[in-house]
Amino acid sequence: MVEWLILLIFVSFTFVPIVLTTWLVMCANRATIWVGHCRRCGYDLHHLGNRRHCPECGHPFQLNARGEPIS
Ligand SMILES: [Zn+2]
Repeated sequence: MVEWLILLIFVSFTFVPIVLTTWLVMCANRATIWVGHCRRCGYDLHHLGNRRHCPECGHPFQLNARGEPIS
């Protein structure tokens, strides 16, 4: 029983923070990459005028407060 408790503490203080940090970094990179690009196909949505659908795949998108496309 004590061995399981030690293993649980070890895992909690080593692997869990590593996995959480990796996940957060991946989410941050993903958000950075997709700003202004179609979330489905990656097409650059800047300079499309009044269109609100991706010309490549038809996925709808909106503009944020700064006028940048978000999908
Ligand atoms: Zn698209």
